[in-house]
This record gives sequence, C-alpha cells and structure tokens, in this order.
Amino acid sequence: MIIVCPHCQSNRIVTKDTAKKTCGLLGVVGGAAGGTTGVLRGAEIGADVGKMAGPFGMTVGMIGGAILAALIGGATGAVAGAQLGEVIDDTILDNYQCLDCDYVFSQKLS
Ligand SMILES: [Zn+2]
Repeated sequence: MIIVCPHCQSNRIVTKDTAKKTCGLLGVVGGAAGGTTGVLRGAEIGADVGKMAGPFGMTVGMIGGAILAALIGGATGAVAGAQLGEVIDDTILDNYQCLDCDYVFSQKLS
C-alpha cells in the first residue's frame, strides 16, 4: 500500500507509531507484573530442578526460573501492547507525517 501526502502528493511518508511504542513499553511492565503467578511457578520449577545440585543449585534454579517467567510475561505483554498501540495509531492518532511538507495526517484522510 502506497500512502501519499494529502497536502502535496509526496510519497515520502513516515509513520510515527507513538501509541505503538508507548503501549509496547507499558505491555512489558504490565506483562512482567501481571505474570506474578508465572514467576512464582517458574521459581518453584527452578527450585525443583536445582534441588539435584544441592541448596546452592536450588537458589540459582529458583532465581533463574523466576527471571525466565518474568521475561516471558514481559514479552507477551509487549506483543499485546504493541498490537493495541497499532490500532490506536491507525484509528485515533495522526500517525503519518510527510517528509516534504511536514503535514501530519491519519490514514483515513488519505
Ligand atoms: Zn506533503
């Protein structure tokens, strides 16, 4: 799809993706925080696995499991946030900017 500036008909258009970036970041934080259950479960599994290596292994396994679960939660949240942000960018915000005349517009107007 070629997007053309409604003001000067230039095709040198960039997307700003403001909401996509913001929501993606919020998704990381929310996903990591919301994944508390996953973090606890990850710590449990990690502790079980590490048990074979003694008390030290259990601690390392627990921390590793918790971090891994938080990362997975954060990544899932980031994807969900970015998708939501994309919708906001496309429908609510003026996501497109013309590099030739600096005109800012949304896709619906073109
Ligand atoms: Zn233009």
